[in-house]
Amino acid sequence: MNNKLQWELESFQHNSKSTQSLKLSYDLFQESSLLDWQHRQVLSRGFKNMGNTCFINSTLQCLLYTPPLQNIIHRCKKVFCTLCCFKRLFKSSTRIPDDFLKYLPRFSQSFSLGKQEDAHELLRFLVERMERNVVRQIFGGVLRSKVQCLNCHFESEIYENFLDISLDLSDSDLERCLANFCKNEFLDGMNLYFCAPCGVRTVACKQFIIKSPPLILTLHLKRFTNEGKKDMTHVKFPEKLNFQPYLLMPEQSIYELYAVLVHMGYSSRSGHYYSYIKGPNNEWYIANDLSVLKVNLNKVLNDRSAYILFYKKSKVEDVDSDGADISLGKKKGRCLDFKEEKLREIKKMKIRGDGKENRRVKGCDGNKI
Ligand SMILES: [Zn+2]
Ligand SMILES: [Zn+2]
Repeated sequence: MNNKLQWELESFQHNSKSTQSLKLSYDLFQESSLLDWQHRQVLSRGFKNMGNTCFINSTLQCLLYTPPLQNIIHRCKKVFCTLCCFKRLFKSSTRIPDDFLKYLPRFSQSFSLGKQEDAHELLRFLVERMERNVVRQIFGGVLRSKVQCLNCHFESEIYENFLDISLDLSDSDLERCLANFCKNEFLDGMNLYFCAPCGVRTVACKQFIIKSPPLILTLHLKRFTNEGKKDMTHVKFPEKLNFQPYLLMPEQSIYELYAVLVHMGYSSRSGHYYSYIKGPNNEWYIANDLSVLKVNLNKVLNDRSAYILFYKKSKVEDVDSDGADISLGKKKGRCLDFKEEKLREIKKMKIRGDGKENRRVKGCDGNKI
C-alpha cells in the first residue's frame, strides 16, 4: 500500500502578507482564514516512542492538525512556548519531538519522562503555554451556569471561560452526554443551595449552557476516575455535530470532527495512546507513534476507546451547502419543561405534606437527611 501522503510534497508557502505583519492582532483574523488550511505545513510523519511517550506523540498530532494553530503567525521569546516549539518541529526533519521531551519535565512536575501520563492533562498544559489571546480566540468559549432558587425564584448567573468541555459518560451517545451536561439539575437533599435572599439553604435548579461557542471545540470524555481507573463505555460520536441545542442563543452551529485522541488500556497510568487526524486533503490517518497510515472515516467513528474529540466550527455556507439538519431536537425547550415539571412535583409534595421533599434527590438513595 502506498501511504505516501499527497500533501507531503507540497512545500510550505509563506503567506507574505501575514509574515510582514507579525504584530497583527489576532482579532483581525477572520474565522474563515483561521479555520481553512492557509498552507499545508503539516507533518506527514510519525514520532518515535521514547519510552511511554505515546501520550505526547498522539496529543501533538491532534494539535498539529488543528488548522488555526498553523494559520496564525506567532513569534515570542519565551523559553517554552507551544507555538514556537511547533514552528521548530515543522522546520526540522526529526522524528522525535525534542523540544517537548526536553521542556515538559522541566516545566511541569506532572510529566516525568518514562511514565505514562494523562493526555488530557498534557493537552491542557500545552494549550496554556500558548499566547493568551491565541488560546482565547481558538479554543475559548463561555459557559453560563444558572442557579434558580425554587422558593423565591431568585436567579444567579455565572459566566465562565472554558478551553474544553469535560463530559461525564452518562450515555453511550455523545449528543445525549452533551444534553445531560446542559440539562437542569435539581439541587436538593445533600446538595441544597444557599440562597442569599432567602438566607437559608433551599431547593434549586441548576443548568449549564453554552453562551459563546469556541472555534475549536474540544470534548474530553471523563474516562478516568481520580484514582486513574477507566470507564470503558463506548460513546458514539458523529462526524458532524449539531451544537445548536446546547447554545443559549439559538443559531446555526455545526462542528466537524478533525481529530480524535484514543486511549487503549485500563488505567490512566498504563495502556497506549494513538490518534486519528484529518489532513488538509480531507483524508483520515491513524497516527500511532512512528506509523501514519490512511484509514477510512468508519474506522475513526467506530473506535470504542475515543478519549478526546476535536471538532472545528463549520462555516455557515458549509452548513447550507451540506444541507445539514439543524432542526434536531429543541433540547433547551425540554430543559424548561423539566423545570416546570419539577416545580409541579415540589408543589404536589408540599400539598401532600408527607415530609419527603428532601428525598427526591438526583442520585440520592432516599435516606432521610
Ligand atoms: Zn512563542
Ligand atoms: Zn431563595
